[in-house]
Amino acid sequence: MYREIHEIGIEERAHAPAIPRLLAAWTALHERYGYAPFDPFDPQGLGSDADDLIVLVPLGDDDYVYVHQGATIRAAVGLDMTGRRTSDVAGATGSFFREVYARVLADKKALFTLHRGAVASEVHLWERLLLPCRDSDGSDVIVVFSKAREFRDDLLSAILDASLDGILAVRLRRGPDGGPIDGDLIAANRRAAQFLGRPVEDLIDCRLLEAFPGVIETGIWDRCVVVAETRASAEFVVSYRHDGVDGWFEAAVAPLGDGFMINFADITARKQAEDAAELKQLEFAAANQALKSEIARRQALETELNRLAAIDPLTGTLNRRALTEGLQKALSLAERYAHAVSVFLVDLDHFKAVNDTYGHAGGDAVLRQVALNLAHGLREDVDLVGRLGGEEFVVVLPYAGTDEAATAAERVRAAVARSEIPHEGRTIRCTASFGIAAWDGRETLDRLLSRADHALYRAKAAGRNVVLVDDGHWSGLAAGADLDVALAPGADVVPFQPRARRGTRPRRKAPTDQS
Ligand code: GH3
Ligand code: MG
Ligand code: MG
Repeated sequence: MYREIHEIGIEERAHAPAIPRLLAAWTALHERYGYAPFDPFDPQGLGSDADDLIVLVPLGDDDYVYVHQGATIRAAVGLDMTGRRTSDVAGATGSFFREVYARVLADKKALFTLHRGAVASEVHLWERLLLPCRDSDGSDVIVVFSKAREFRDDLLSAILDASLDGILAVRLRRGPDGGPIDGDLIAANRRAAQFLGRPVEDLIDCRLLEAFPGVIETGIWDRCVVVAETRASAEFVVSYRHDGVDGWFEAAVAPLGDGFMINFADITARKQAEDAAELKQLEFAAANQALKSEIARRQALETELNRLAAIDPLTGTLNRRALTEGLQKALSLAERYAHAVSVFLVDLDHFKAVNDTYGHAGGDAVLRQVALNLAHGLREDVDLVGRLGGEEFVVVLPYAGTDEAATAAERVRAAVARSEIPHEGRTIRCTASFGIAAWDGRETLDRLLSRADHALYRAKAAGRNVVLVDDGHWSGLAAGADLDVALAPGADVVPFQPRARRGTRPRRKAPTDQS
């Protein structure tokens, strides 16, 4: 049981204002008469102080009878002691009372004591002023001013009870070598009692390790002892297993007197919620990843579909729609940045004959070969090659004027002429004719293509396997117009110099198949 006994420094220690006042009155009387008469301390004439007063008369044999018990004390203890004896007070508190009563009578000195009340569910610290007095008949009377440190206790109890955490205060019990061997629980709140599964009353004054050996197994005891010995607070999370279920609690420990205060909360539910949230997070991330790859897959599919939609399946070159779009874009860019664009048309020579001789499949093989020749002879990623249908290709050459276009066309023409295409054990050879036109910076796409077509028509008329350039002064002649007019001196179709065959008279009629 907690107890303090003081002869000196009473005024400083006391919280109740009545204590210094009563002590001063008692001291003055004691010094004057050598003893203090009981009369001035008789509760009958003391007014409100009487509520906090106990008056005892010694019975001899180390026992005392209560002749007065103030109303406040009675209410706090819940027991009317009037007429009862000190020997009725059980345990450590009873012996403590008898000890101090005997002492004041023997010493004839005032004493100030502090002790923890027997009402163990509340942390009641009583402060008492014990005054030995003499009654008018010469007998001894003990006047005890007794007051619970109410305000502090109420505040402390309120804090303890309001706390959502379990709180325990422990005073260390030390062995002969001074080392901690156990701890006495000196305070506990309801929450701690709930957690430990015992009423608060049972917890107070019980021995921690004896009552809760689990405190050692979980390592809590060692951590708390370190806090008490080093005077440094600590926080930690402890896991435990109860009824086959894993649990966690979080603890904060602070040094308190020769011991420690531990504040703990069961965080099992929070921990489980956190784990569940983490799991959800992972599931979410996985779903997100799956969604991302699905989007990527679909985008790739869409890109591939777009590519396929733009491709001529036989030759792998652009189809008519894609080529027309590409050419339109090339013209827009050329207009904006004022650079050149040229186009050339390619038509295979006597292709009907190829089909007739080698069959349609043979013709197709030739078309694929010409597409290859075009791809190899042109700038990758810059020039566009498309098949308009039939055996006619269109090539768009950004940044190229007629000279560069003619050089490229000539390179392809030579490659086609050189190609030997194996087909069903035979070798097919073929040539192609080329018509070139450079964009004049204003004209429409259709007009540009018509001029190239016109040059192509002239190339056919000039004997085929030739590259011809339209010089830009287009007379408006359409394919199929009279060849003699078209090739008359001063006509607007100029054979490409390096390889063009000059002066060859047209032997065949102009092409009519414009597909
Ligand atoms: P020219 O030198 O005057 O151009 O004579 P040509 O025989 O090539 O005449 P034209 O260009 O009019 O003939 C086109 C022929 O190409 C007609 C058609 O049978 C053939 N053709 C068109 N498309 C295809 C195709 O996809 N595959 C094959 N194998 N033949 C095709
Ligand atoms: Mg042809
Ligand atoms: Mg043709």
